[in-house]
Amino acid sequence: MMNTPLRIAGLLEHAEKWHADTEIVSRLAEGGLHRTTYAGLGRRSRQLANALQRLGISSGNRVGTLAWNTHRHLELYYAVSGSAAVCHTINPRLFAEQLVYIINHAEDRVLFFDLTFLPLVEKLAPSCPTVETWVLMTDRAHMPEATTLPDLRCYEDLLAAENNEFEWPLFDENTASSLCYTSGTTDQPKGVLYSHRSTLLHSFAAGLPDCFNCSARDVILPVVPMFHVNAWGIPYLAPMLGCKLVLPGPGLDAASLYELFETEGVTFTAGVPTIWFGLLTFMREKQLRFSTLRQMIVGGASCPPALLRAFDEELGVTIRHAWGMTETSPLGTVCTLKPQQLRLSPDEQFAIQTKQGRVIFGVDMQIVNDEGRALPHDGVAFGDLLVRGPFIVADYFGTEPGQLTPDGWFRTGDVATIDAAGFMQITDRSKDVIKSGGEWISSIELENLAVGHPSVAEAAVIGVPHPKWSERPLLVVVRKPGQEISQEELLAYYDGKVARWWVPEAVEFVNQLPHTATGKLLKTQLRKDFDGYQW
Ligand code: ADP
Repeated sequence: MMNTPLRIAGLLEHAEKWHADTEIVSRLAEGGLHRTTYAGLGRRSRQLANALQRLGISSGNRVGTLAWNTHRHLELYYAVSGSAAVCHTINPRLFAEQLVYIINHAEDRVLFFDLTFLPLVEKLAPSCPTVETWVLMTDRAHMPEATTLPDLRCYEDLLAAENNEFEWPLFDENTASSLCYTSGTTDQPKGVLYSHRSTLLHSFAAGLPDCFNCSARDVILPVVPMFHVNAWGIPYLAPMLGCKLVLPGPGLDAASLYELFETEGVTFTAGVPTIWFGLLTFMREKQLRFSTLRQMIVGGASCPPALLRAFDEELGVTIRHAWGMTETSPLGTVCTLKPQQLRLSPDEQFAIQTKQGRVIFGVDMQIVNDEGRALPHDGVAFGDLLVRGPFIVADYFGTEPGQLTPDGWFRTGDVATIDAAGFMQITDRSKDVIKSGGEWISSIELENLAVGHPSVAEAAVIGVPHPKWSERPLLVVVRKPGQEISQEELLAYYDGKVARWWVPEAVEFVNQLPHTATGKLLKTQLRKDFDGYQW
């Protein structure tokens, strides 16, 4: 067989040649919609690769991006990785100190950023000595008149100065391609360095029928940001399959998203549960329906059953629940039913669909107890979830090796069950597990049930020290606007749904819950807020 290295530029070459006129539509930070095609993406990515060379970027150098999902960010994905440099996507929702830490740790030499982030970048710049060049991702007309950034460059000017001839270099497929830091909810963010090989293998896996199940007939709108875990691989998957791409830019509110779904004929989307609750509320209020959307991937946090049901029954959209993390590229499992389960009642099917699902090829998993011994796949035993495979991190970027177990598994930090049919269900992050009277209680399951109550907007469950049971679950709830509900009513809602001893000990009502930069519940903060709580 031919020994053709797997390279990210190969995806672009393929799309440019075989899906040349397929569209890429972006909503820009400057406002308005921008339209191009894979042919256009190819041309401009080569211009950008020439510009990067002129800026002195060479193989292995890190190039940072602080940007929304747009065609320019996509050009950076291909031009930077394609020329053997490392595309370092940075999450603008992190705290300023974390951003400074990440940029310095990665030793980014150039930083590309959207107009939205100009004030932020001006603030960070004095603390980022490795960055030699600052590039604002806009055209001449939108460049600021004054800035504190030294020699601020204009993206469109950089491109305009270059021609579009550039040979994507050939190199070993294990060469680093992109870099993403975890959100660092407990300690400093950690860098996960992807390779061309891992990215391509992940893309092949993402395209499988029991995974994203997309084709050239699909129109994909990734709500999941390109600044975190490569938008779950969609920027690579779409050109591989020749899908039309719709990039929402900074417009992530329900009204803007709905408009794009409808006007661009979107068939497939992906994002975290919070976004979809917002969209659902908006569509209910306005009595709207989708005309083309058929399927969405929900992941990054547990997908509550109420969301699955509402999209399926009210809006005719199938939700596929997925699990993964920065360290797994990120897809690990996706929940699609097997034939024997299609014979079950709708309620039973929904119950399975709320699990995080089955592994995709390329990922192997197991659950182990505290001694590292494998636990049975009976859907009941829960333990630490371990994974391994060619798109799973071996060691964090720039740290001492030694992350894996002695027999080569990555510890996810999640606690899960696996049932006999191979469906994995996350019960908790290991640091969020509640241990009551020596037994584990799943905070995620209690939260999922609480948000199923019509008066509850958001819920979190944490373990609080208890004199008799060592720890008991406390339910912290944000009510929906204008809704009244008492502690007694909420606790009664758990009757018959979970074991008696799982029912939270008490309920506290709050105006809002703390979140991480990626929109997940920040339980470390919540535990601090309820430190010293008296039952
Ligand atoms: P971070 O940067 O915080 O690590 P990730 O996006 O990598 O962010 O988050 C990974 C974690 O998110 C997982 O380890 C798991 O705890 C949680 N997670 C992801 N998907 C799901 C899901 N479908 N259900 C429950 N938890 C999930």
